[in-house]
Amino acid sequence: MAKSYNYKMHSAEHLLNQAMVRRFACSRCFSAHINPKKSKCDYYFDRPLTPGEIEAVQEDVNQAIDADLPVTMEEMPKDKALEEFNLDRVPDMEKMSHFRVVRMGDYDACPCIGEHVSSTQEIGRFAITSTGFEEGVLRIRFKLK
Ligand SMILES: [Zn+2]
Repeated sequence: MAKSYNYKMHSAEHLLNQAMVRRFACSRCFSAHINPKKSKCDYYFDRPLTPGEIEAVQEDVNQAIDADLPVTMEEMPKDKALEEFNLDRVPDMEKMSHFRVVRMGDYDACPCIGEHVSSTQEIGRFAITSTGFEEGVLRIRFKLK
């Protein structure tokens, strides 16, 4: 099957989530809208980001892209996956016996069935276009150049 047009955007979502987790000890986004031109991720958060923080997160993602991390996939039995990951967002969890874990070098690991780049440099340049905060939800909009 040909890779969908937004696999680069979706791969950037993985890196953005890891950047957010590392920097703010928050959870990965609970909702994401991935589109070819512009995407957005929503996080449970307690405040808006400062301009300096937005810059820093953007830099984190671009550093991970520049490191050209290899993207690898591994089938993991459910009990092991449950120890390592939060699987709340996985549909049909009860029916699954194995999960596919996607790793981006040593930087990120996440159960995912989506399509990804084969190494992070393929993503290109990552830019946060705007952020918003409302009722405990931080929204980050981004694009790739
Ligand atoms: Zn994915």
